[in-house]
Amino acid sequence: MALIICPECGKEFSDKAPSCPNCGCPTHNIVYSSRDSFSDILLSLKGVNGQVELYHNKIVIRRKGFIAKMGSGLFKGDKEIFLDQISAVQLKKASALISGYIQFTIPGGNEKLKGIFEATDDENTVMFRKDQNKVAEEIKNMIYQLR
Ligand SMILES: [Zn+2]
Repeated sequence: MALIICPECGKEFSDKAPSCPNCGCPTHNIVYSSRDSFSDILLSLKGVNGQVELYHNKIVIRRKGFIAKMGSGLFKGDKEIFLDQISAVQLKKASALISGYIQFTIPGGNEKLKGIFEATDDENTVMFRKDQNKVAEEIKNMIYQLR
């Protein structure tokens, strides 16, 4: 059992309850603030060159099992970025013909890559197809909400 904090009224209650006992806000609408629930995946996006998993306090970009057609070809496994490190999320929606991308900007982190890599070669960027537009947007919104 984990305790969660109701965003509506601030009361702490069990995540097993269907809603906040104080104000009735449904549990599934509540962003978990307990450390116990940090390991749950909130959203996951299956991209063309990687997968983005959104947790309560971080994102993980997984490249395993993806053929990374990167200029550098040097992506080593998974990358964790804590939400409070992310200063901006750039999102370009995919069309039927062109892949979209979601890029996580980290102060200092992306700067040194400028001029060396294209946006699509950035290790903090994941390309995706049209069917992932919705989840990509949800991830962006959730990050701004959570951090
Ligand atoms: Zn409440």
